[in-house]
Amino acid sequence: MSSFTFTIDAECPDSWARAGTIQTPHGTIQTPIFMPVGTQASVKSVSPEELHKAGAQIILANTYHLMLRPGSALIAELGGLHSFTHWDGPILTDSGGFQVFSLGHLRKLSEEGAAFKSHLDGSAHTLTPESVMRIEAELGADIILPLDICAAYPCSPQEAKAAMERTHRWAERGLVAKEQYRPEQTLFGIVQGAFEPELRQESARFIGHLPFPGLSIGGLSVGEPKAMMWEMLQFVTPELPRDKPRHLLGVGSPEDLVVSVGLGMDMFDCVLPTRVARHGGLFTRAGRVNIKSARFRAERGPVEEGCDCYTCRNYSAAYLHHLLRAGEYLYYRLGSIHNIRFMLRLAADLRAAIIAGNYCAFRDEFLARYTPASEQVRAEQREKWQAARLR
Ligand SMILES: [Zn+2]
Repeated sequence: MSSFTFTIDAECPDSWARAGTIQTPHGTIQTPIFMPVGTQASVKSVSPEELHKAGAQIILANTYHLMLRPGSALIAELGGLHSFTHWDGPILTDSGGFQVFSLGHLRKLSEEGAAFKSHLDGSAHTLTPESVMRIEAELGADIILPLDICAAYPCSPQEAKAAMERTHRWAERGLVAKEQYRPEQTLFGIVQGAFEPELRQESARFIGHLPFPGLSIGGLSVGEPKAMMWEMLQFVTPELPRDKPRHLLGVGSPEDLVVSVGLGMDMFDCVLPTRVARHGGLFTRAGRVNIKSARFRAERGPVEEGCDCYTCRNYSAAYLHHLLRAGEYLYYRLGSIHNIRFMLRLAADLRAAIIAGNYCAFRDEFLARYTPASEQVRAEQREKWQAARLR
């Protein structure tokens, strides 16, 4: 049987924020939590020891990439993801559906599932709600996700409804299929509904009441303005059962974490902190800075005064500036460690504020000080990255 449990340690009286504890077969997770993403079973340039030291409690790996290379059967033969990667803490795998639907590899979508061609070698594959459960059982993560359909942004209300209804049918098929495989794995349900308030509410009620021990909110942070994402969460959260952990899929940035915790979210995953780090974007309490900028050329102090990460304790901003300008590999590791530690310290600070009963003050102070990347910068980055992935 699954040893997965979720308990609520504290709730904010003035918002929907809560602090909780999740038990999994590979350890405990204290929420709110940020989950670093290891797309190819590796958080790029950072070792498991460095992740532990930065405070990581759970990491995410992408089923789509791993089923194609090296293959889920091989990973199973080598003892599953924990043994294969040497990360001994909890792992979450997604279903692979998001990559198939959003990266243009889709060839044919039907009620049965999604047939697509590999971006690596053109080989033909099919994901169904049932095959995804088999593949994720082979990968062996603690928390797994079912096949769902993330509607495009923008999309018509009819498309949003059709995607949601199919997601619901696939959720039920996933629950049945999962029983054949590894009972110790925990399957979360995925709420969809695009940007239609009534569909979001309906999906939250439907998925929330199926026997999933946890819930992921999908289909957000797909190119819409942030205000629209937060508005959708205001419709979703009141419909969700209180006693299941809530994972906001593919989110996000520091400000997303701070705001979404107040909207009832417990778990977050995103490539953003490590991806922007590799491009020179480092988080500080005042906002994101670009380490390539000339103002760091002779900066003797760390990127952020007072940061307790390995990078800031040992290296000057001037050195990081030099490493990135020179294209040195060490920069990718040091920059990633700083941003991962920033997100995990922020999650721990949010948890402490909820327990102390002052989440709202913490949120307001953080947002007053932190300058986020503008919507325009976000849109441009997004286009650049998507174009790069489609090549
Ligand atoms: Zn640091």
